[in-house]
Amino acid sequence: MLILETIIHDVVWGGEKIGPHIGVPGARIGHLYSLVDQKGVSSTILNGALKGTSFSNWFSASKKKLGLARFSEFPFVVAIVDARENLSLQVHPDDEQARALEGADFGKNESFYFLESPPLGTIASCPVDTIEAVRDILEHGSAQDLVEYSPVNKGDYLYIQAGTLHALCAGSLAYEIEENVPYTYRVYDWGRLGDDGLPRPLQKEKALQCIQPQLRALARPMKAMETERLYAMRLVEGGQVAAAQAVEHLECWTALDGPHEIDGVPVCLGTTVVLEAGERMPLQSGTWMVATLNKEICHDQN
Ligand SMILES: [Zn+2]
Repeated sequence: MLILETIIHDVVWGGEKIGPHIGVPGARIGHLYSLVDQKGVSSTILNGALKGTSFSNWFSASKKKLGLARFSEFPFVVAIVDARENLSLQVHPDDEQARALEGADFGKNESFYFLESPPLGTIASCPVDTIEAVRDILEHGSAQDLVEYSPVNKGDYLYIQAGTLHALCAGSLAYEIEENVPYTYRVYDWGRLGDDGLPRPLQKEKALQCIQPQLRALARPMKAMETERLYAMRLVEGGQVAAAQAVEHLECWTALDGPHEIDGVPVCLGTTVVLEAGERMPLQSGTWMVATLNKEICHDQN
């Protein structure tokens, strides 16, 4: 069992809802990384024999056993997101576009589970039908004309397929799981300035190569199990089961409330506990989102 330390990511649109849960009231936090293995940022293990070492090192040493040897980094990232302002209007590349534009192995899909819903709704669609119309608006009109809201409620699930024009909106507090690919192309940033006092860069040309205007994502109540291509997820109330147990595959249990104490370590909103197959964690209470790897990807192709 690995308990991972959360990592604060301070961004210009971040809110103040997460801070009180993790002992830093008043902090403006956009992303609280729960589980991350990327170049330059990796979760730290808080318990047991590996205490103080990085999750990246653990994954490198374990990936063959997990059937994930072809992945250079752990396949998904988990975070809690608090949006005080709208996030940028953006798109992520699909596999083919990621290969062509970035030389990357695969593109990026992502999912959200809403702990609090934004009053205006969410943006997960394009109001025009063709990429030529999108280009025309970006070159000659106002990017605001590409903004279209759709409703979202607390407890809803939203899956954003690569190619979907989208933005998480002000008032969202969400559990986010995303394929571990760093590519985001912004087309509009609401006239906002970055920490350096300058507008944050846009990537309109790359975005125009990725936007599929017909794609539309709708938020809906979360099912008992949501399975996407790299990950599957389910919600568990601690009172429902006496223990968390990973039977066949690795499970990543992320606390959606707290504080709790596991293995002598305080566990708060956003803390992830990784259970390997056969491991068990007593559970008294709390609400947890459990992410597992989609079994389809747990094999080596070499
Ligand atoms: Zn996104």
